[in-house]
Amino acid sequence: MQFNGLMRDACYINGEWVKSSDNKTLKVTNPANSEPITEVPDLGVEDARLAIEAADRAFQLWKKRTAKERAAIMHRWFQLIVENADALAELLTTEQGKPLREAKGEVLSCASFFEWFSEEAKRTYGENIPSNTQSTRLLTIKQPVGVVSAITPWNFPISMIARKAAPAIAAGCTIVIKPAEDTPLCALALAALAEQAGVPAGVINVITTTRPVDVGHELCTNPLVRKVSFTGSTPVGKIILGLAASTVKKASMELGGNAPFIVFDDADLDAAVAGAIASKYRNAGQTCICTNRIYVQDGIYDAFAQRYQAAVESLKIGSGFDADNDIGPLINHAAITKINSMVQQAVEQGATLASGGKIDPAGELFYQPTLLTQVTDEMDIAQAELFGPISTLFRFSAEEEVIKSANNTPYGLAAYVYTRDIGRVWRVSEALEYGMVGVNEGMISNELAPFGGVKESGIGREGSKHGIDDYMELKYICMGGI
Ligand code: ADP
Repeated sequence: MQFNGLMRDACYINGEWVKSSDNKTLKVTNPANSEPITEVPDLGVEDARLAIEAADRAFQLWKKRTAKERAAIMHRWFQLIVENADALAELLTTEQGKPLREAKGEVLSCASFFEWFSEEAKRTYGENIPSNTQSTRLLTIKQPVGVVSAITPWNFPISMIARKAAPAIAAGCTIVIKPAEDTPLCALALAALAEQAGVPAGVINVITTTRPVDVGHELCTNPLVRKVSFTGSTPVGKIILGLAASTVKKASMELGGNAPFIVFDDADLDAAVAGAIASKYRNAGQTCICTNRIYVQDGIYDAFAQRYQAAVESLKIGSGFDADNDIGPLINHAAITKINSMVQQAVEQGATLASGGKIDPAGELFYQPTLLTQVTDEMDIAQAELFGPISTLFRFSAEEEVIKSANNTPYGLAAYVYTRDIGRVWRVSEALEYGMVGVNEGMISNELAPFGGVKESGIGREGSKHGIDDYMELKYICMGGI
């Protein structure tokens, strides 16, 4: 059976597979060849409300299950994701375009969040606080926040859901998930596996829609929702935070980035080139922690630029189903238009186009791996989140200068530093105004570590022992009369 029967054309609300009440649908297409894949329901505000109400009813029961019971169900869900990893990866590449090996990596990363948080469910300890009087005892307990709304993007259609659903459900919350319009299929597949794993009706609900503004408004303002968890662009994050403020909901925001990648003269050149390529070109450059600005120190600039250009030009572009390819299509036409105009503008402002810079013959959504050199902080491209397969090389002389340039952005998600000087590692890591720093490492994301940003890159952390706290309230209990 294709995709192990995991490709669904209905939404999952209250444990049932449902169509839109007005029979409207959303067409899903394959970005590699623009061919239709299937259609899923185009739900409206009323459907979103029903999903929230189902999640609220389910919450009253789910929060009472012991952590061990919740963990056991989540562990089955984790195992099913691993058992179906190949089918899920194929579905992911079909709707999103990334190379199949990257898709498989994403599915396994998704699974690892369910595994990790199934374990963490059992460790949401409270504390005993030494009291200040003879007659009282002070303690804290942690309790689930309640119904969670999750709004997720298309660049990681399955793992971005896991990062929210796993800690939420482990904590005892229930969740309504609205995936991105371009990639609804992995979200529905994940719900199908939740059903198989025995997740009770209403604990996870997935609603697909072409109307993110109206449905998003309901998800972020309905009083039954107690927390909003969003991954996407900073402008939309600001809208959602504003909506969530109306009923003072808790909020987690994973927003845009403008990651600097700093290469000092003493860096291991091969490692720096490999790290920059891995961080930049993964998912065709469409990740929020992708390297965005490569700052190279004077003494190593020419050698780095030469080797990096050779590495960029060796990347293969084409269908994600061909194992030779490193770069798949961009997600849609709007992405291609944006990338093309950014590159042209940078060249007009004085950057040198060293490689690429065109739509590839592989197809209308394929953009060649591109390298711009001699880029400066004054150019518009220095402030843009590229979200495509474009590298920009900047030259710098002094440590102080590059820290200033690196921090000169409203964003603060990930930053990367390559140097072998241990003192500099500490100085620079501490001075960078970012939530995450990769030192001599370009791939930093995993379920064990806290992922998140500062400044306009977001609020909260996903993964690690801290991730579950974003879905729990700390309650203080004062016992008197002792
Ligand atoms: P991207 O630029 O990566 O597409 P967006 O921030 O536009 O990121 O989208 C991320 C998610 O936010 C998607 O699920 C999208 O449907 C949703 N979204 C977009 N606009 C709104 C909005 N006004 N309110 C709520 N959700 C929205």
